[in-house]
Amino acid sequence: MPNTDTQAYNTHNPHKACKYVFVTGGVCSSLGKGLTAASLGSLLESRGYGVQIVKIDPYLNVDAGTMNPYQHGEVYVTDDGAETDLDLGNYARFTSAELSKKNSITTGQVYFEVIESERQGRYLGGTVQVVPHITDTIKKRIMRLSQQQGVDIVITEVGGTVGDIESVPFLEAIRQIIHENDSDVTCTIHVTLLPQLANNELKTKPTQHSVRDLRVAGIRPEFLICRSPVLLSQEHRSKLELLSDVTREGVISSYDVDNIYELPLLYSEQGLETKILKKFNLAIREPKLQPWHDYINSARKAKKTVRIAMVGKYVQLEDAYKSVDEALSHAATKLNAQLQLVKFDPELLEQQQEDEWEQLRACDGVLIPGGFGTRGVYGMLLSAEYARTQHIPFFGICLGLHIMVIEYSRNVLNLRGADSTEFKLETKHPVICLLSEQEGIANLGGTMRLGANDSVLVKDSKPYLAYQQEVISERHRHRYEVSNKYLTDLVNAGLMIAGKTADGSLVESMQWSGHPWGVGVQFHPEFKSRPIYPHPLFRDFIKYSLDSKAKRHKSSAPPHPTTEKKPRKSGTSS
Ligand code: GLN
Repeated sequence: MPNTDTQAYNTHNPHKACKYVFVTGGVCSSLGKGLTAASLGSLLESRGYGVQIVKIDPYLNVDAGTMNPYQHGEVYVTDDGAETDLDLGNYARFTSAELSKKNSITTGQVYFEVIESERQGRYLGGTVQVVPHITDTIKKRIMRLSQQQGVDIVITEVGGTVGDIESVPFLEAIRQIIHENDSDVTCTIHVTLLPQLANNELKTKPTQHSVRDLRVAGIRPEFLICRSPVLLSQEHRSKLELLSDVTREGVISSYDVDNIYELPLLYSEQGLETKILKKFNLAIREPKLQPWHDYINSARKAKKTVRIAMVGKYVQLEDAYKSVDEALSHAATKLNAQLQLVKFDPELLEQQQEDEWEQLRACDGVLIPGGFGTRGVYGMLLSAEYARTQHIPFFGICLGLHIMVIEYSRNVLNLRGADSTEFKLETKHPVICLLSEQEGIANLGGTMRLGANDSVLVKDSKPYLAYQQEVISERHRHRYEVSNKYLTDLVNAGLMIAGKTADGSLVESMQWSGHPWGVGVQFHPEFKSRPIYPHPLFRDFIKYSLDSKAKRHKSSAPPHPTTEKKPRKSGTSS
């Protein structure tokens, strides 16, 4: 129940003795607040504490579902179908916290809730205001994470940069939580940047200013995570201590690392989690960090390389396929290989640009990730045809499965003009189409097939061999489905069904028969891959790509070019 103005919501131990860490950011965006929150989460878990992490996005969109990937990067999907900021993907990869709709708070959601309550008359005639109604709603949304079983510490990451107009109500809500609780209940971390000038000097001034902005909001940072290209010197630490009013103990150097999974180890070496646990008066248990050490060691030791082509619509944007990039890298590390990820713009393949095709032919596997809309589809179809006919390992994810089906229908079944109704409404052969319940939907937000669904895998299919189990659960985010009308013909022609929904009504995965590893899935396995537990489908895709590389080299196929002809997005993702 929302409160009336006279009864502001007090957060003093509303549920139980849970602790709260608040992560804010200063100087500029994209400093890695999400990775900081996620790394801290993993460290606290490694010390035996149950952790939840919540992301605050101070924009007016209700969720990230309707946002353009070019603006926002990947949309991360939870089991319960929330379409969220990609930072939740970091939380999922670094911790075992179960994420849901509750882990994402946006200004849009908060105002939606308050305005709906106002319309229902639940404020009993009171004047509805930012303080206390908006701030109370924010406080409740943060506090409700602590109600979940086994949660000892809730980490809240505030998106954006301190000083942004949009963040003001969120910082005020956090200030109130800090004020209403004893000092061993809350802890504040401010992530800032120490830029390096041409003379190699690191500058602390922007950090001082952003700490001042935070103090104007009534929040004093207890820890400063200082991003810089190099390790901070004692001199810098002293300066920050003096000018930012943080103890020297609280200054943590976060210099650039090769692999993001080194971050928990970097922070732990500087005692971040032990200092926080001390502040919380919680026992400092022995850490269990061996899996992180092992992962970093195998990433460092990996000698062989595997070159994967990603043919996707949004490849110009670094973060558009974040979880896919990460899942590939987890799998490669597991198989002691270094991932070379080469991203292809399908429109250039479509234009038959020879240097693009030469680069594609130098790859050991081809992956088509998810996407929406017509642009680039033909280039994707060409790359799928190439992988199928040349026996190159292929992995189609969501849109990638649709591409696989359209390509097979056109080139093997000879169904001229076969298409998805997403790309051509009046197609003669709608091999991919809308389910009747998706037809006529006008509202775009939250109306796709979203979240976890079971699949039943066909025994001995490629996905079955990867998972080693018959019933799996994976997350979905799509509107269009493989049409059942063409299935018998497709199967008879060699596009096998590898899995279906539990009720048997819809196709969930398919594979090319007589091909080393050509698999398409309707779901998004990338969301469940973790460095310590790489996803079985990505693992097998990389395994077969390594095999294909070895075979091609043996049969004296031209080796990989050592230099790329033109600059392109390439390299390991972490
Ligand atoms: N555009 C396709 C659909 O809506 C595929 C979506 C996706 O790849 N996530 O069904």
